[in-house]
Amino acid sequence: MYQGSPAQKYVKARGLDDVAPSFGLGFVASAIPGHERYAGHLAIPYLRPAGGEDSVATVRFRCIADKCVKDADGRYFFETGQKERHSEFHSKTGKYLTLPGDPPRLFNTPALIRPSPVLVVVEGEFDAMTWEAAGVPGIGAPGTGTWRDYWSPALLGYQTVYLISEDAAGFKFMESLAAQMPNAKIIEMAGNQDSNSTFLLEGPKALRERIGL
Ligand SMILES: [Zn+2]
Repeated sequence: MYQGSPAQKYVKARGLDDVAPSFGLGFVASAIPGHERYAGHLAIPYLRPAGGEDSVATVRFRCIADKCVKDADGRYFFETGQKERHSEFHSKTGKYLTLPGDPPRLFNTPALIRPSPVLVVVEGEFDAMTWEAAGVPGIGAPGTGTWRDYWSPALLGYQTVYLISEDAAGFKFMESLAAQMPNAKIIEMAGNQDSNSTFLLEGPKALRERIGL
């Protein structure tokens, strides 16, 4: 059950409790044999607008283990401006697990079929969900350097596509995307804060103002 799970608590603390149901977020309380490594993770489905059997393209699993995400006082590291500690406890697997052999995919493609003059592109599922929570359609690439060229044409019809960057690696990534899209505009986030931190610290209005909305 997601309700009341550590996954829900984590997502709520990140300010995304309201949008969690529309993204179908889940918690892997126990896993079937062969999938044990996903146990205890937050499950993030990649929903597709087709619905039915084709509604979930894949699922990624995010580590929310207490030792990785909370300090000794039980506060989440993101609440105190510290980095999560996944690399200390499981340096080989990282904070996200992907199904074996799964290629990079775009997160939140339902945003692409909603009428809107603007679109936001971020790195990561949490930031994409954050923009949705702020009322702006947002899609997420599952990491720096994961972009596939065949994703770009879907973005050419927008008046403006805002490419959000919060660090040097992100800026380089977004710069390479901007080269493929004449309607793109790179937004550098102040103080290296990602979209979710900005949303949490300053609220949805302040986040929208970053792109002039
Ligand atoms: Zn971890």
